Amino acid sequence: MTMSQSTAALEPSNHPVPRDFRHHHAIIGAGFCGLGVAAAFQRHGIPYHQFEADDDVGGNWYHGVYQGVHIISSRKTTEYTDWPMPADWPDFPSAEQMLTYLHGYADHWNLRPHIAFQTRIEHVRPFGEDRHRGQWELTLAGGERRIYGGVIVANGHHWHRRMPSYRGTFAGDIIHSKDYKHRGMLAGKRVLVIGGGNSACDIAVEAARSAQSAHISMRRGYWFMPKTMFGRPTVEFIRPWLPVASQRILLKALIRVIVGRYRDYGLPHPDHNIFERHPTINSELLHFLRHGRIVPHTDVDRYHGHTVHFQDGTAAEIDLIICATGYHVSFPFVAEEVVEWNDSGMPNLIASLLPPQYKNIYFFGITQPRYGAGPLISAGAEAVCTAIDTQKRLKHPLGAVLERLGATAPTTWLRDPHEVMRTMKRSQAIMPQLPQVEEQLMGPKHPGQVARAFVAMAPSILRDTFGRRSEQPSHR
Ligand SMILES: Cc1cc2nc3c(=O)[nH]c(=O)nc-3n(C[C@H](O)[C@H](O)[C@H](O)COP(=O)(O)OP(=O)(O)OC[C@H]3O[C@@H](n4cnc5c(N)ncnc54)[C@H](O)[C@@H]3O)c2cc1C
Repeated sequence: MTMSQSTAALEPSNHPVPRDFRHHHAIIGAGFCGLGVAAAFQRHGIPYHQFEADDDVGGNWYHGVYQGVHIISSRKTTEYTDWPMPADWPDFPSAEQMLTYLHGYADHWNLRPHIAFQTRIEHVRPFGEDRHRGQWELTLAGGERRIYGGVIVANGHHWHRRMPSYRGTFAGDIIHSKDYKHRGMLAGKRVLVIGGGNSACDIAVEAARSAQSAHISMRRGYWFMPKTMFGRPTVEFIRPWLPVASQRILLKALIRVIVGRYRDYGLPHPDHNIFERHPTINSELLHFLRHGRIVPHTDVDRYHGHTVHFQDGTAAEIDLIICATGYHVSFPFVAEEVVEWNDSGMPNLIASLLPPQYKNIYFFGITQPRYGAGPLISAGAEAVCTAIDTQKRLKHPLGAVLERLGATAPTTWLRDPHEVMRTMKRSQAIMPQLPQVEEQLMGPKHPGQVARAFVAMAPSILRDTFGRRSEQPSHR
């Protein structure tokens, strides 16, 4: 299909019969993740259409963050591997720079002509009676229906607000951190931020500078790390070859030297080991706590008018509460039967990507790396291309085959980026070999089945892992 034909296909239609694009994939979302997948599809010649609800690319970095925010992961650990950020940019670029970067990426890979902007996907469901055919019916805003040969869901996970609830009634305003946009919203107000993660601490620091008074309430202890150590971004300090146990010992020792005890700042000691939850990377919170410009509190107990009572019996007068209490991951437009959720609220997506019962649908970018997203998006997008190619040669859904080989669904949103990279490298080598062992793997289960499959695949995996030169597209 030529470019102009492809672009024309993006125009909405009122046709009553679903339009047939079963040789195309649909990418839902043109944020950091969706753009990375689209670029990989361009490189691999996979025909696709991309749908974006907003009027431009960039997702969270276009419409989702407050003025003045800077990334907490560093420039080098956040850029895509196929498009570097300018070398003269700072270690921690601003939201504006992130958006400029994503615009540059979209232009570099000529992604815009393939994106239908202001086109929200309202519904995605398996097409036809036989779900194993792996075709998908999409309903666009406006009602048009289309059939696609595959779908990549890249709708982001920083929009479905998680709000806490406490006893009593609060007489001031309560908003989620997603709805905090600029410092003007804080001026002259007594502000309480609930939470201890990265957004909570960033906003508490903004309040320390702009509000009448600034408070922060945390229900547990967090690991707070400075943004830089020894003059380098902290996230770059951790080397991939260093085992997690050693990373923990090293970081704890450095925090003890640089920060000291959290209790000396009025904060509880963390109730979990470092990296078991998302670390909070912020150099200014502790500074402002020490200067008395942010007052720390325990969890909220109840509200009464403008008074917020805390669990330790203290209270504060507050005008504005900002809940930096995180997000739910959800795909509200995907037919309910496609993704099963367990009791802990985690989706049954094998390798954090594939529902085991369905073919040709990929949920992209649902986990949170401990550092920047770009390198994982680039590697993940390549893995999706390999998965698409592999699925064509399999009878069963790829997720089901990988599950038989021992791949699992995530048990936590937070992932060690180095481990994810290693897993993706292994999967890239294993996936192309799966068709040759599919029958063996998917037959009745018996001991040694998986081991024999690995032995059968071993020569090809070794050749692919160590014998192939990686092909990186040229940088700008
Ligand atoms: C305050 C803050 C700070 C952060 N700091 C960092 C950082 O330092 N480093 C880092 O790596 N990450 C950071 N992040 C995480 C950030 O979300 C990711 O960098 C990145 O934006 C995720 O990209 P995404 O494409 O998955 O989601 P998004 O950027 O949210 O993009 C999803 C896109 O999908 C579109 N969409 C959704 N549903 C539909 C639909 N039904 N139809 C069509 N389009 C749809 C949306 O409009 C949106 O454009 C931060 C997040 C926040 C909130």
